[in-house]
Amino acid sequence: MLRGLARAAARRPGALWTRGSGNRTGVPAHVVDLRSDTVTKPGPAMRRAMAEAVVGDDDYGEDPTVRELQEKAAKLLGVDRTLFVPTNTMANLISVMCHCQRRGSQLLLGQECHLHVYEQGGVAQIAGVHSHPLPDLPHGTLDLAELERVVTRGLGSPYHPVCELICLENTHSSSGGRVLPIDYLRQVRLLAQSYGVRVHLDGARLMNAAVALHMPPARIVEHCDSVSLCFSKGLGAPVGALVGGPKDFIEEAWRLRKALGGGMRQAGVLAAAALVGLADFEEVLPTDHKNAQRFAKGLQELASPICSVDLAAVETNMVMVRVHGPPPEELCRRLQAVSADEVAQTGRAVHVLLFPWTERSVRAVWHRDISAQDTELVLKKWGFVLRQLGP
Ligand SMILES: *Cc1c(COP(=O)(O)O)cnc(C)c1O
Repeated sequence: MLRGLARAAARRPGALWTRGSGNRTGVPAHVVDLRSDTVTKPGPAMRRAMAEAVVGDDDYGEDPTVRELQEKAAKLLGVDRTLFVPTNTMANLISVMCHCQRRGSQLLLGQECHLHVYEQGGVAQIAGVHSHPLPDLPHGTLDLAELERVVTRGLGSPYHPVCELICLENTHSSSGGRVLPIDYLRQVRLLAQSYGVRVHLDGARLMNAAVALHMPPARIVEHCDSVSLCFSKGLGAPVGALVGGPKDFIEEAWRLRKALGGGMRQAGVLAAAALVGLADFEEVLPTDHKNAQRFAKGLQELASPICSVDLAAVETNMVMVRVHGPPPEELCRRLQAVSADEVAQTGRAVHVLLFPWTERSVRAVWHRDISAQDTELVLKKWGFVLRQLGP
């Protein structure tokens, strides 16, 4: 479904993808892209930092900007060391491979988590790791009793795979950016430790979680054996992620990064962008969260029978909109299109880009390229489309 829409959108590039381009109505088009926080483009400060980055050969450990990033991030996350990698997908794969050294090791994770659904089953096809998916609860957590049942089921058994690792995701993407409670992290860690199992945190949006909890990220990471962090989501960099953990873990991670083809040379150009993202996340992410809240409240005030939001579930930069009635594709299509009617009524040509998330929902994601003003425009457009669809 997602792919279909992306392809359909890609077929008509000029009309939508050029910000500020004209359209048939003669009113400049304004595009607000809520599909994901990966769509951000580096702003002037980030581009300047990239252009001026001091670089060296990182394969020799000689890129000062990469080193600076790795050291700053290690402090921020409260880990011994971190390693800069091209993507969070690679960060997760490397982490799983470090923790699960024997073929057929078992990995427990949520059945809707990114690592399980969107990463090509890399842990199976590349690492020979056997994933056991568990149902995700609405808060993005796993049922602890079920987790313990699965961890202990094969203990000492020659028939069962050996459970080596539990992967958690924070914030939890498929549940709409929910933040894992610290007490839950503590309980999972205790359980894991008592059976010799490690915990990896897919922290692609860890900084969103930290901001939502008003807590330094290290207070989250301290409950895990390793962590990944993505620079190309809310932090706004064009490329990059990292793995964090103990010294020996990162030494092994370095070898695996090499094996997977993720060793880079003058990567300081990329690390410089990541450093800008790390420097300003405390300003940017709260704004994203506030805009998401504003949208959710505004949508609720529209009091339409067609759409609803659970305000309590809006904890970070995402809003999960339940769609009653028309298929979510239809709603997305109308939010994306601009009609002469709309221009006549509002004097605007606003294209709101969104993907359907499930058969009954649409997920909207806020990021640094969306202003408070854009958010108001999205609400106006949404109201217009709801009136079009009628009760
Ligand atoms: C995006 C994402 C990833 C993968 O990151 P890439 O940099 O796109 O490889 C992993 N986990 C979560 C939760 C994500 O949202």
